[in-house]
Amino acid sequence: MDATEFRRRGKEMVDLIADYLENIEQRPVYPDVEPGYLRSLIPEEAPEESETYEDVVKDIERVIMPGAASPACTELETVMMDWLGKMLKLPEDFIAGTHGQGGGVIQGTASEATLVALLAARSRAVRMILASDPQRPETGITSKLVAYSSDQAHCSVERAGMIAGVRMKKIPTEQSDKYAVQGETLRRMIQEDKAAGLIPFYFCATLGTTPSCAFDHITELGPICNAEKIWMHIDAAYAGSSFICPEFRPLLNGIEFADSFNFNPHKWLLVNFDCSTMWVRKRSDLIGAFKMDPLYLKHDHQESGLVTDYRHWQIPLGRRFRSLKMWFVFRMYGLKGLQDYIRKHVELAKEFESLVRADQRFEISADVVLGLVCFRLKGSNEVNETLLKRINNGRKIHLVPCQLSGQFVLRFAVCARTTESRHIREAWRLITQLAEEVMQELPH
Ligand code: PLP
Repeated sequence: MDATEFRRRGKEMVDLIADYLENIEQRPVYPDVEPGYLRSLIPEEAPEESETYEDVVKDIERVIMPGAASPACTELETVMMDWLGKMLKLPEDFIAGTHGQGGGVIQGTASEATLVALLAARSRAVRMILASDPQRPETGITSKLVAYSSDQAHCSVERAGMIAGVRMKKIPTEQSDKYAVQGETLRRMIQEDKAAGLIPFYFCATLGTTPSCAFDHITELGPICNAEKIWMHIDAAYAGSSFICPEFRPLLNGIEFADSFNFNPHKWLLVNFDCSTMWVRKRSDLIGAFKMDPLYLKHDHQESGLVTDYRHWQIPLGRRFRSLKMWFVFRMYGLKGLQDYIRKHVELAKEFESLVRADQRFEISADVVLGLVCFRLKGSNEVNETLLKRINNGRKIHLVPCQLSGQFVLRFAVCARTTESRHIREAWRLITQLAEEVMQELPH
């Protein structure tokens, strides 16, 4: 949709909302639909090809309005999470409309999903231990719990440990292993901690780390977690969107061992902020951790098993109608349109990588797998820090750095919807021009 159409559609949408508000008294206050009404009204999977804006808007009256006020919000979310789960080829266990015991929920951010998974894991660990040793005091269990994540994990993982009040250990990674957590390292830490009387219960794997887009080896790590009854959560905040492309889907192999998985469609799948999608293998593990049923939140269907009460799946009780954004985006782009978008960004990143590799003064600091290129001037950290400052002070492009094995590294990330090859070439022209200046001024 170009700017002209966006202006027109925006005005039409205001009219639609104004008409709705003007005529609201003609609509029933309480919906007259049965639980599960929505699933049969829309396809089981996202369309391959794009549909028009009119197609989607027409369906608001047919699909959403009969369940407006409440069930539509919940039911569209369940079905959209299934659509997206199928695009990612998640195992059936994670898809709600199957015989499995799992399903998806929209959280606000990846940080929230990591925390929710950690709290659910803590609750499951305590329940499991009490089941075999009912006399053991609960505080004696929680003080021994230990969680793990990579030293490359996003700081939100460490923060989840602080909020939950549990010990969180960082697993060291090596440049020679491409900054991925190795099975052997996790196994050794678990054995050492168990020997010291601790209780390992949670591991947060990262697919697409923030510094360098590294991928933990979940095919190796998953079986270790399963054997030790450790909850494996996968944080793929950025990289997860790429798994809708068959060529990137192998990066998610090993998902079959995970208890929960999360990524942010608001990062790289064209859904506006906020929309962080989380799937769990077993709904009851989450619900068991957060269930509260005061009288003022009771409803007729709550014991029927037909209704998903998302308030038990998250920290807040109230929720936004975020699945509408997914519905519009998935239909208006179609799976193919979304795949093209991801592929284009990866191609642009590869184009930038080739420009860097062709210049002897620079080096690439980590494999370029998706839309992130980690690079630096061959030379001191000081030279690279100065270059970054000059680049950002120029206010034309914005780069965020990272540290890899003690080296100061520049990160070039292709993020914007409208990025084209000419932007990449222009960015490289600016970077090399500033690099020249810096190299003349500073010893390197
Ligand atoms: N995990 C990873 C790997 C990330 O790259 C990020 C953000 O960049 C996060 C988690 C945090 O995401 P959010 O802002 O959605 O909490």
